[in-house]
Amino acid sequence: MVIRLYIRKLIVLGHQIAGKVDKVGDRVGLTWLYGSCSSCEHCLNGLENYCLDIVRTGWDLDGRYAEYEVAHEDYEVPLNGIPLKTEDLAPLMRLA
Ligand SMILES: [Zn+2]
Repeated sequence: MVIRLYIRKLIVLGHQIAGKVDKVGDRVGLTWLYGSCSSCEHCLNGLENYCLDIVRTGWDLDGRYAEYEVAHEDYEVPLNGIPLKTEDLAPLMRLA
């Protein structure tokens, strides 16, 4: 019997977040998707989650439970004008 152990480095957990862009003030949400190749068939058809080069927060990179987060503008969801508290919007980013 062969037992394979998959050892990962420790990472900060968390997938979705909502907050304000530092020094700009716009409210935005971020999904679990941090990035993808943007050029494969899946990416070009809006199916980045199937991209072989996908980068996921809380899995490939540190997650969203941090005071500050760096994100690609392409993966931001604008939240200005939505009449809900910012902290209530974060769980909804799983649907974005
Ligand atoms: Zn791709």
